[in-house]
Amino acid sequence: MNQTLIIGAGGVGRVVVKKCAKNSEIFGDIALASRTLSRCEMLADEIKKEMNITIATHQVDADNVEELVNLINKIKPNIVLNIALPYQDLTIMDACIATKTHYLDTANYEHPDTAKFEYKEQWAKDEDFKKAEIMGLLGSGFDPGVTNVFCAYAQQYLFDTIEEIDILDCNGGDHGYAFATNFNPEINLREVSANGRYWQKNSDGIGEWIETKPMEIKKVWDYPEIGQKDSYLLYHEEMESLCKNIKGLKQIRFFMTFGESYLTHLKCLENVGMLRIDEVEVEGKKIVPIKLLKALLPDPSTLGERTVGKTNIGCVIMGYKNGEKKRIYIYNVCDHQEVYKETKAQAVSYTTGVPAMIGAKLILEGKWKGDGVFNMEEFDAKPFMDELTTQGLPWKIISLDPDIKL
Ligand code: NDP
Repeated sequence: MNQTLIIGAGGVGRVVVKKCAKNSEIFGDIALASRTLSRCEMLADEIKKEMNITIATHQVDADNVEELVNLINKIKPNIVLNIALPYQDLTIMDACIATKTHYLDTANYEHPDTAKFEYKEQWAKDEDFKKAEIMGLLGSGFDPGVTNVFCAYAQQYLFDTIEEIDILDCNGGDHGYAFATNFNPEINLREVSANGRYWQKNSDGIGEWIETKPMEIKKVWDYPEIGQKDSYLLYHEEMESLCKNIKGLKQIRFFMTFGESYLTHLKCLENVGMLRIDEVEVEGKKIVPIKLLKALLPDPSTLGERTVGKTNIGCVIMGYKNGEKKRIYIYNVCDHQEVYKETKAQAVSYTTGVPAMIGAKLILEGKWKGDGVFNMEEFDAKPFMDELTTQGLPWKIISLDPDIKL
C-alpha cells in the first residue's frame, strides 16, 4: 500500500488532499503536513465526515530540511506533494533527495527576497535526483502544468511542427470584493507586478527574451463560455521549459485577464509602496509591506463560497500538419460554483489541485517515470489528458483561422 505526504494546507492543498482521498486506492495512507497544524486538522475532519477516510496530520516547517527529513523518515511516503509556497521548493527537494522520495510541486522556486521566477536552481538538482533514483515533477498545476501538457499533446498527436504558442489564462469569476487575489496574495502580486517577458526567435533563428513593462501589451480575446476579456502579457514560468522542449517553436507568449477594478487597485497599491518585498521600519518594528497587505486581504481559501462564474485556461497553438497550416485553441472551462460544491474551493485552487493529484497518480502508477528532474511536457501527454477528463477538468479543442494571430 502506498503512503503519500502532502505539504501545505491552503487553498490548493484543500483540493489536493480531497482529490487524493477520492483516489485512495492509489494514494493509500495520506498524511497532510503544514506550518499550522489546525488547518490540517480541520481538513482531515472534513474528509472524515464526507468520505470516512482518515488523513494523518503533522506540523512541519518546510523551510527546515532537517525537520522535513525527520517527518519523511517517520511517514516513509512514496511521494511528497509540495503544495506549500514556491519559497519551500528547494528545501523540500533536498529532503526528498536525502530520503530517496519522489517529489512534485506546482510552482517554480522563488527566493523570498527577489521576485524572480526561474527553474535554474531546481534543474540544477537533476544529477542528485538521478543519483537518488527518484523523480521530481516540476509545475504540476494548471499553468504551469496542464498548459505544458496541452502543448505536449499538440506536439505529440496533433501537429508535425509547432511555431507559435499563446497561453491564455482567464478568470471570469466574480467574488464580490473590490480587490482580492485568487491564490496566495504575496505570490500572485509579485507575479503580476513584475515586468512582462516573452520569447521569440530572431532573424538568425536564435531564441531571445523580449521584456515589456508590466501590463504594457494588451489583447482582447473571446474566451469560449465567458466572452471577450482584456488579456495582458505577463512572464510565466512554463515558457522557460516549453521554449526548450517544443521543437521548432518560434514564439511563445502568456496572457492573463484582469478587470478594471483589479488593475486600478494594483496600480494604487504599487504607487504607495504596498507591494514592496523589502523590510520597512514602522515605530521600531520591521515589516514587509506585501506581507502586511496579505494579512489584510481576504484569504483566497475563503473565496469559494462567494465566487460565481468560470475560468477558461488554454493554449492557442499554430503549426503545420501534413503541410497544412493549423491554429487551434485547446482549453478547459471550470465553473467556480460547481467545484465549490465538490471541494469547498474556488476554481483557481481546483484547477491547480486536480493536476497536482493527477501528476502524482501517474508517478505512483508508473505511467510517468524516470530518474531526475522533469517538466510536464517531457512525458506522453495522453494518460494525463485522459485523467483530466475523468477527474473533473474536461478539455476541448476548437479550430481557429490559421492566419489570424491574437
Ligand atoms: P496558500 O497560501 O493558501 O497555502 C499555502 C500553504 O502552505 C499554507 O497552508 C501555509 O501554511 C503553508 N506553508 C507556507 N509556508 C510554509 C512552511 N514554511 N512550512 C510549512 N507549510 C508552509 O497558497 P495556495 O494554496 O493558494 O497556493 C499553493 C501553491 O500553489 C503555491 O506554490 C502557488 O504558487 C501554487 N499555485 C500554482 C498554480 C498553477 O497553476 N501552477 C496556480 C495557483 C497556485 P499556513 O496555513 O501556516 O499559512
